[in-house]
Amino acid sequence: MQFCGMHQSIAPSISLATHLECSHCNKHYPLNTLQTYAHCCQKPLVAKYDFAQSLRPEDLAGRPATMWRYQEVLPILKDDHIVSLGEGMTPILNLKKLAQSYGLESLKMKDESLNPTGSFKARGLSMAISKAKEFGVKHCVIPTAGNAGGAMSAYCAAAGMQATVIMPKHTPRIFQDECRYFGAELILVDGLIDRCGALAAKLEKETGAFNISTLKEPYRLEGKKTMGYELVEQLNWNLPDVILYPTGGGTGLLGIWKAFYEMMDLGWLDSSARLPRMIVVQAQNCAPIVDRLNGVDRSTKAYRESLANGLAVPTAFGEDMIMEVLYESGGTGIAISEEEMVAGVKEMAASEGVLVAPEGAALLKAIPKLKASQHISDTDSVLMINTGSGYKYLENLD
Ligand SMILES: *Cc1c(COP(=O)(O)O)cnc(C)c1O
Repeated sequence: MQFCGMHQSIAPSISLATHLECSHCNKHYPLNTLQTYAHCCQKPLVAKYDFAQSLRPEDLAGRPATMWRYQEVLPILKDDHIVSLGEGMTPILNLKKLAQSYGLESLKMKDESLNPTGSFKARGLSMAISKAKEFGVKHCVIPTAGNAGGAMSAYCAAAGMQATVIMPKHTPRIFQDECRYFGAELILVDGLIDRCGALAAKLEKETGAFNISTLKEPYRLEGKKTMGYELVEQLNWNLPDVILYPTGGGTGLLGIWKAFYEMMDLGWLDSSARLPRMIVVQAQNCAPIVDRLNGVDRSTKAYRESLANGLAVPTAFGEDMIMEVLYESGGTGIAISEEEMVAGVKEMAASEGVLVAPEGAALLKAIPKLKASQHISDTDSVLMINTGSGYKYLENLD
């Protein structure tokens, strides 16, 4: 690992971060060194904060309309280290026509396609690259199904860091091109993101590059949790009944859930508040979480690529944590076909004027199935998280 020793001179900041914890055994890890994952249990590390120092919703007034408005509950220790392209504070749209046609009182969508590089990956990568900068990292490597690679390349360009992106060969051209435009080295691999992950681990050892793989470093999660803070603030401190989330590695789902608990600790949400039922939506081609929920023997399954490349994640490092959220929230999981996703993209575009990623469209197509299985009722307020822009996928959607 490359350090410049910068961490020794980090000044105290407004961040309330105190330490990191193993998500399995709660062992503490210090904040003042570059961390990867909890080697004690081979599980993700999670950042912890001291919420005793009161921060009030009123304090947010007049702050920038980016995810950095929540700086106290984020892990960056010095403003100078923040690498931002204006990510976060994406709008929540009220999809009235679709609510009516799907028989729901309220259907909303948080539109993450408006983030830099066209997906919510910008949040996690803005945070992880900022934190890497704080420790003087000079070179980052990432395995990606597409969007994370583009986002990391952009933030590395802005930070003046070297970037290496490892992506499946079959990923649509635009996801490859954007990395090259941002000056990253792009390595194409046969197979899915798990293959890319194996190569990233190898390059990490060989080159000393810092590995930004999902949940193998603790701070992408902190970036993605800002979706939870935002949606509660934007819904005027109310919670939806149901959140539909297109799940690959699950960082966004875990981040949103983490935010709810932190907001309870801050007193921003009532500690008896009924939290939303969190629903995982996956692609039928690659649905390991749904298969686990259904007790399917996964050793016999061959997971395949999907048009929704963000969902083509055969094994999630944070799977145990995802299962816990589903159990605790009373949620579930459901898988959607490729054809349904394409139909969903077209339907959402034509009826509401939003061109969402197939990952986002899968959420809409999950609704009738979830109603049929009584996981959603007509009177529930439903919030979909559209994680990416449809514009990057168009060449593959004909
Ligand atoms: C990465 C990605 C996902 C999956 O996100 P996780 O938080 O890792 O589950 C979903 N949609 C899009 C568009 C993505 O790029």
